[in-house]
Amino acid sequence: MIGFPDSFLPWTAATLIPAFLGLLLIVSAERILDAILSMLKRALNRIKSFFRRTSLKADPGVTPSARHARTPKYLSAFGLGIFLWFFVDTIGGAASLDVVDAFSASWAQIATVGLFVVGLIMFFSVDRNRNIFSPQLAVGKYGLAIPLLVAASVGIHGLGEGAAFGALASQTTSATLLDAFAGPTGGGLTAAVAYVLHKALEPMMIGVCYFAYAWDHGRRPAGYLRDLLLLSIAFAIPSLIGAASGYYLAYNTSYFYALGTGTSIYAGVRLAGPLFNNAQPGSSRESIKMAFFLAFGLLVIYFAALFHSG
Ligand SMILES: [Zn+2]
Repeated sequence: MIGFPDSFLPWTAATLIPAFLGLLLIVSAERILDAILSMLKRALNRIKSFFRRTSLKADPGVTPSARHARTPKYLSAFGLGIFLWFFVDTIGGAASLDVVDAFSASWAQIATVGLFVVGLIMFFSVDRNRNIFSPQLAVGKYGLAIPLLVAASVGIHGLGEGAAFGALASQTTSATLLDAFAGPTGGGLTAAVAYVLHKALEPMMIGVCYFAYAWDHGRRPAGYLRDLLLLSIAFAIPSLIGAASGYYLAYNTSYFYALGTGTSIYAGVRLAGPLFNNAQPGSSRESIKMAFFLAFGLLVIYFAALFHSG
């Protein structure tokens, strides 16, 4: 057994800090990429001018504002890639909604499927007046409401993660958390790395929605950081409730995962919205880029999961 504060404080830090950093990273992605590209361009120009002895004018290329118009699209494709992995992982935590029970209609099966449906309908009904299916009309209109709801919808599965962690901490015979995490062949550290990495990647789905739907909300002094902190807390709260209650009570965590799978569909739909722009014809290059970002999002969270399997 590990004392409550000795387990709860590291859990809070390992959940909240990566979440905040993940959010910060994804909403700054455009600026970071811009900086890297312009650095590369300048370096390239310098090399060229060294050989030609003439300085080249900077290539006007795509104007920043034109680029910004497309950024939410690419980020959303990346976020949707993360979501696809997230969904399969979370429904796995709910034993695929008890499908193995076949037509048993046991109470456990009914409760599992019921929680999934309740979670799904709950978020859509709470947000029914904010143009879920007319995403362009929802941009910049509802303050922080949309990203906060997305934060809650993907955060709820943390009840299950937290409860599993709390139970582990209160029942383990190991003296340290890392030993408790380790399997028979060790690997406590890699399990912790997997957890921290996935806690930085999951909130990127929230950050993408913040960027796509509520970016103007942060245009106040210290606005962005305050918003991101608020979103990280909203995302982390279920994990903390799960860890605190799971320490003292024994849960079947698959119910929490069933609920969390249902609620997360709201995030999936919000992430899909910005992918489509009905106002302009899309180019073939654009489609390939989108496919690339989808694959990239899925593969980064797959990469984090590899640590868990190590
Ligand atoms: Zn998770």
